[in-house]
Amino acid sequence: MESHKILVIGSANTDMVVKTSRLPKPGETILGGDFFLFPGGKGANQAVACARLGGAVTFVCNLGNDVFGKEALEGFKKDKIDTSFITLDDSQPSGVAVITVNENAENTIVVAPGANGTLNAEKVLQLASVFEQTEIILTQLETPIEATEAMVKMTKKYKKRLIINPAPARELSLEILDGLFLITPNETETELLTGIYPNSPEKCLEASTILLKKGVDHVIITLGKEGAFYASKNENFLIKSEPVKAIDTTAAGDVFNGALTLSLAQNKPWKDAILFANKAAAISVTKMGAQSSAPYLKDLTIQP
Ligand code: AMP
Repeated sequence: MESHKILVIGSANTDMVVKTSRLPKPGETILGGDFFLFPGGKGANQAVACARLGGAVTFVCNLGNDVFGKEALEGFKKDKIDTSFITLDDSQPSGVAVITVNENAENTIVVAPGANGTLNAEKVLQLASVFEQTEIILTQLETPIEATEAMVKMTKKYKKRLIINPAPARELSLEILDGLFLITPNETETELLTGIYPNSPEKCLEASTILLKKGVDHVIITLGKEGAFYASKNENFLIKSEPVKAIDTTAAGDVFNGALTLSLAQNKPWKDAILFANKAAAISVTKMGAQSSAPYLKDLTIQP
């Protein structure tokens, strides 16, 4: 298979999860149950998902120069990701998410972004050689918005395709949206960006039209177990998800975005790319965790 270079820029975190019978109240100490340490962060999850499916991925993030940062770096290398542009920042700890989960699967999450917060415009503007050689760029919104703005500038300069997965949700300026190749919000992100909750194909089209009018070329709204809705100025359609028994939907969107980016880098038609992304994401929801649930190409029965 011909390998197309893919650049993922974004966050990397370590998720620290404690299971508890109930969530503690302010000021209270309770004895927890099992403890898990999972590699996470939307950028890292998407880079890993893409690489495991066969993408030649360069991942750019800032990690702390600490045990979590070094561990994450080793993990990326095992997944054959090019880590040449990852910084081990001495000034900040690695990003962590401290998570408690009770018996009803309700959780509290506190994210300390640490080194993710130092991924600035300057770092992105220094990536000229990578932008030049890459086919497509994928990013999210867990890193400073000045870095996203710099990515927009660089993709325009080098005439590349930029995909923004607008998670976690925040408003985006016209400067970012106008001329953007693809945006991939989920339902709540769509509502924040457009004011429309996309709970029917008509609402999906209405919300997509708002984003298309702001200058985005393509919109894909991910709809959980309902699948994904595609819209451009020329066409729109819904592609249903693969029916599976969902165990844990953490990072389903990340696997979807990683797989989709790989297919688009290979210049597959939109329908094929979305079918492939739906398939990869469906497999991920049958397994626990974020990166631990990202499938390998051999786990998929249809090829990209
Ligand atoms: P979401 O971020 O929840 O919209 O999910 C992203 C993608 O993951 C969806 O577009 C589906 O392709 C897939 N997905 C999420 N939840 C499920 C599920 N319960 N069953 C099958 N696929 C799912």
